[in-house]
Amino acid sequence: MFVAILLGLCMAQGYRCARCKAQNPDLEEPLDDQNLMAPKMCLRDLIYNLNSSGSGSAGLPLLVQRTIARSIILQEIIGKGSFGEVWRGVWNGQDVAVKMFSSRDEWSWFREVEIYQTVMLRHENILGFIAADNKDNGSWTQLWLVSEYHEHGSLFDYLNRHTVSMEATLVLALSVASGLAHLHMEIIGTQGKPAIAHRDLKTKNILVKKNGSAVIADLGLAVKHDSIANTIDIPSNHRVGTKRYMAPEILDDSINVSNFESYKRADIYSLGLVFWELVRRCSLGGSCEDYQLPYYDMAGSDPSVEEMRKVVCDQQARPSIPNQWHNWEALRILGRTMRECWNANPAARLTALRVKKTITQVTVVKTN
Ligand code: ATP
Repeated sequence: MFVAILLGLCMAQGYRCARCKAQNPDLEEPLDDQNLMAPKMCLRDLIYNLNSSGSGSAGLPLLVQRTIARSIILQEIIGKGSFGEVWRGVWNGQDVAVKMFSSRDEWSWFREVEIYQTVMLRHENILGFIAADNKDNGSWTQLWLVSEYHEHGSLFDYLNRHTVSMEATLVLALSVASGLAHLHMEIIGTQGKPAIAHRDLKTKNILVKKNGSAVIADLGLAVKHDSIANTIDIPSNHRVGTKRYMAPEILDDSINVSNFESYKRADIYSLGLVFWELVRRCSLGGSCEDYQLPYYDMAGSDPSVEEMRKVVCDQQARPSIPNQWHNWEALRILGRTMRECWNANPAARLTALRVKKTITQVTVVKTN
């Protein structure tokens, strides 16, 4: 029955998978009945076309999401996070990523799905949400979050394995800044979007796309701002996120938790650290730094809040900027941007939109 509904919805929209066909010329258009019964539906187009309100919608209809989730064939584990496993699966010939939560992490699943279903969240630099499903198999409940699959994996994995050219560095930096600017931006109107703060931005939570740009993922700790009531959508639980990337005001507990701007500013601090990890891997005249986590030389491999507080707040230490960066205009500007992102004073930090504009200007100068 689910499949019938899915097909019905597709047919009603006069669905034609142009992009799929462009990418895979072997696919025939579903012109006759037989093809319609077994269409090579392209997920991307399905998501963009099936919803009457296009990219502004909050996601596919729930029944369609369940139909998709239940016809995925799991292939291999591609990662493990704190909540459970991430699998590569195949749906109708296309790779998808399936994040599986254990039932004790039901709240994390629910919360992440809720954020991904925010109206107007969809953006080329935010991980593309496809479906959520909860399936009771008798003994336990399987909780799935299905998203687009990115074969390069996380930016952390990518930087560990590869060096990046100046152009690639700028593409990655710009796409992360664009994703964060979109997340942080409130869009006003009936099809509006609230401002969202990520609260766990790090290279492990950014994925690298085939085209060399990046998407921000792992929205499970994000919070939304209700600008009319000036409230945050969940009670702001104490100190969440990854300690290494925590802003000084989180580490020393001086953050003003009732002001939504505080969360955006804390994200910007983390963004500065992400840029530092990225630019270290930028290949300059054939050489670059080795991959390192921020504060690798000042904190242990699994630092406590107290350890990070001493480094970041008491000593006011920050990652060091290699002299070599000053020889390249683009990296000089990126270095300055990082410093402005990790300023000890949250109010003095740049906004994501400002960072995006600065990198756009650098990119234009660099490519002209
Ligand atoms: P934590 O949950 O503690 O923050 P984590 O961020 O590493 O840890 P996940 O992001 O959930 O955990 O996933 C683990 C790994 O799975 C990622 O680092 C990445 O390599 C891989 N992964 C996750 N989602 C995708 C995806 N959509 N496409 C490709 N690989 C993915």
